[in-house]
Amino acid sequence: MRVLPDLLAPGARLEKLATGCGWAEGPVWIPETGRLRWSDVTRDRILEWDAGTGATSEYAVGVEFTNGRTRDLEGRVVQCSHGLRRVERVEPDGAVIPLVESWEGGRFNSPNDVVVASDGAVWFTDPPYGILPAGLEGHPGESDYGGCHVFRVEPATGIARAVVTDMVRPNGLAFSPDESLLYVADTAGLDIEGAPAGVRVYRVEGGACRDGRDLFAARPGATDGLRVDVEGRIWSSSASGVQVFDADGARLLEIPVPETVANLCFGGDDGTELFVTATTSLYRIRTTTTDSAARERIGG
Ligand code: MG
Repeated sequence: MRVLPDLLAPGARLEKLATGCGWAEGPVWIPETGRLRWSDVTRDRILEWDAGTGATSEYAVGVEFTNGRTRDLEGRVVQCSHGLRRVERVEPDGAVIPLVESWEGGRFNSPNDVVVASDGAVWFTDPPYGILPAGLEGHPGESDYGGCHVFRVEPATGIARAVVTDMVRPNGLAFSPDESLLYVADTAGLDIEGAPAGVRVYRVEGGACRDGRDLFAARPGATDGLRVDVEGRIWSSSASGVQVFDADGARLLEIPVPETVANLCFGGDDGTELFVTATTSLYRIRTTTTDSAARERIGG
């Protein structure tokens, strides 16, 4: 009999920390301030929850529909902008500067989620959610390149290259602990009959992706954001809560959440608290593990 690791802290329970969002996404822990920052995409603002006081505040409003975010090797926040169709960086003084705005002369669709590799390369997904006609998560528009790719931005040149081109609506993404594998969620099936809705895994070699294959599908709903812990387990969003899978795609654990989960991240003082952005609210549950990426875990 296989014994499952105890992934939740003794007595752990799901706590609702904040609510009142339209579509909560893009969480990242900021260790310097002890705050959890996230996007309220449809209400076009960025919020922060303060672990010291338990208070939630608006970090910024009118932010051009930011979505997923992470931290780079220097601890600076890197975030996706649906509205400006770019990936951008937040400087220590709060200024927001573009990191990448074009590929082969055209614009991106609406960058959705982002990770930074240990070599400093920025990897991000580019589905169309920010340019759809409804305009709820950005500005209606056309796709310049007619697809939805995953891109890697070369740190030395700042030039983007398409690394995954066989997905329909690539969304959340994360590396395995040694960065030999890239996991990417496709959320196309949520809106398009018969389209894929699952996580694919690619071998990463020399900044390129090879041998893509389907790994798992988190049902009900689909994986949107995901993170990988130090043991290589994949912590996935879904419509019913957080679901944890091993590297072979076997489900280890489900944490029910009363709202559809969009994304999650590890944080807190020791990096073992799991923060969950779920539709209108921010939740937390204490785990026994941490993010695989040291910069997510301890920052800087
Ligand atoms: Mg997403």
